[in-house]
Amino acid sequence: MRFIAGGTTLVDLMKLNVETPGRVLDINRLPLDKIETAPDGGLKIGATVRNSELATHPTVRRDYPVLSQALLNGASAQLRNMATTAGNLLQRTRCMYFRDTAMPCNKREPGTGCPAISGTNRMLAVLGTSEHCIASNPSDMCVAMAALEATIHVQGPKGSRAIAFADFHLLPGNTPQRETVLEPGDLITHVTLPAPVKGSKQLYLKLRDRASYEFALASAAVVISVAGGNITHARIALGGVGTKPWRSQEAEAALVGQPADQPNFRKAAEAAMRDAKPQTQNGFKIELAKRCLTHALKMAVAS
Ligand SMILES: Cc1cc2nc3c(=O)[nH]c(=O)nc-3n(C[C@H](O)[C@H](O)[C@H](O)COP(=O)(O)OP(=O)(O)OC[C@H]3O[C@@H](n4cnc5c(N)ncnc54)[C@H](O)[C@@H]3O)c2cc1C
Ligand code: SF4
Repeated sequence: MRFIAGGTTLVDLMKLNVETPGRVLDINRLPLDKIETAPDGGLKIGATVRNSELATHPTVRRDYPVLSQALLNGASAQLRNMATTAGNLLQRTRCMYFRDTAMPCNKREPGTGCPAISGTNRMLAVLGTSEHCIASNPSDMCVAMAALEATIHVQGPKGSRAIAFADFHLLPGNTPQRETVLEPGDLITHVTLPAPVKGSKQLYLKLRDRASYEFALASAAVVISVAGGNITHARIALGGVGTKPWRSQEAEAALVGQPADQPNFRKAAEAAMRDAKPQTQNGFKIELAKRCLTHALKMAVAS
């Protein structure tokens, strides 16, 4: 069984025979389409809120601009009008072998192998990979949500639970077919964001092969506060380079307490990419991601 929301991931994959659910359950009539202020000053975003509505909501634009920018950098206007918050959290990789049932793929059919490792991997990951899968997570929205420390709320056969964003997506390890901690039948009901960090500057920067309608080669979401020239708070996440939306606590630790200047931004970027492992075609992403984060920090602080 699969839930269907906007259908922009699921229907594509059903047409390709990559997903063949026995039953598809339409959740669009559930009352999960509201954006509300939470009692703690944060934001509650319903699972079926469309990406376009979330991006343009006045509170999101004012208090969570990094999320608005990330959403508007994704897909196309038509797709954003259909795509939902929960669907975006669960979108699948764009690895070409995953989407082609004529090819082996450990994620689609465990144990068949990973042709991307010796094949076409220019778009794929350099962080969090395993010998079984190197697929990158393609979401823009998720990168902003990682930096904003969102929480995902789920209702399932065993009751309801809340999952910290950092714990929601899984690394491929030996089980690349398992992408999140969701269990069969779990329905995402909403996502919450904590109250915005007062005085923080936020920015999403996406680098890609063309200016629109293209997935990230590298992207950075930055939430940063500066007082007296020094960085007092930093939340950093990277997109396009990780097997999951990539929160970098290494970069955050390198920034906090330091002067907000170019050498420290670069040091943070070096820290973020320290464990990166290039594949045969995507080594360029390591330097690209460093420059992306360095520039995003510079632009955020100057904004
Ligand atoms: C041509 C194209 C270009 C794109 N470009 C980008 C891009 O640049 N950046 C980017 O970030 N994304 C991009 N996307 C991906 C797009 O953002 C996703 O397809 C979309 O967000 C998925 O949302 P949906 O509501 O349509 O999901 P659906 O297709 O309805 O569902 C996706 C998955 O989520 C599950 N699901 C949905 N809702 C729930 C729920 N409430 N609880 C549990 N499971 C649920 C479904 O069962 C399914 O497995 C692109 C897509 C296309 C087709
Ligand atoms: S990278 Fe992952 S999704 Fe792509 S072919 Fe290898 S196992 Fe499949």
